[in-house]
Amino acid sequence: MALSDRELRIPEGETPARCPHCGRPFRSERLRALHLGESHPEICTGDERAAYDDAREDEDDDLFIYHLKVVAALVGLYAFFVFAYMAVSLMQAPG
Ligand SMILES: [Zn+2]
Repeated sequence: MALSDRELRIPEGETPARCPHCGRPFRSERLRALHLGESHPEICTGDERAAYDDAREDEDDDLFIYHLKVVAALVGLYAFFVFAYMAVSLMQAPG
């Protein structure tokens, strides 16, 4: 898997979490846990495996929240257009 410089860049002053197997730095323990489970599944310890599962669950939760926000935004947009249509229709109604 090719990695861009951007993916590997860690801001100065941050202590990166490093993969114990390949030494790759990560911005957070969560990202390292995800890397361990996906890149080194065969040499993961039980703890690392558990951390990976936790990280995956957190990510799924974040994705679920994100989808809720997208749906809420679409419903809001739809309601806005329905009300706008009703307002315009009332203004144009005769009498
Ligand atoms: Zn690694």
